[in-house]
Amino acid sequence: MCANRLIMENCIFCKIINNEIPCYKIYEDDLVLAFLDVNPIVDGHVLIIPKKHFENIFDIEEKYLERIINVSKKISLKIKESLGLEGINLYQSNGSVAGQTVFHFHMHILGRNKGDGLRGIEEGGVGSKENLEEIMNKLKII
Ligand SMILES: [Zn+2]
Repeated sequence: MCANRLIMENCIFCKIINNEIPCYKIYEDDLVLAFLDVNPIVDGHVLIIPKKHFENIFDIEEKYLERIINVSKKISLKIKESLGLEGINLYQSNGSVAGQTVFHFHMHILGRNKGDGLRGIEEGGVGSKENLEEIMNKLKII
């Protein structure tokens, strides 16, 4: 078995793509999948991942990266409109020294509001796990 296959079999995001682990899905197309982070830093914390395993920005194919950026805009607009939030952070880490903990490329989209209490992404979140289903239903695009 090659090393890459072993990595993919143990990858939590590949398991989500293969429906081995459920997720709060809000968007899917031929190249990417978007779902709520189950440990939300804020209310309205979405992850977008390529449906093919790439570790990070250093190896991702351009067509997946382009789609992720385009879908980031679509989801950002949806978060702003549906949750009534004023701002968005796009956040993406590459390599363990940069704070990457899941080694399958992912873009975080964080809905932001004045006074939401979030000081720094690394310092821990202010989001609630209680209303994930409600937020998923508000953000579903397809
Ligand atoms: Zn993966």
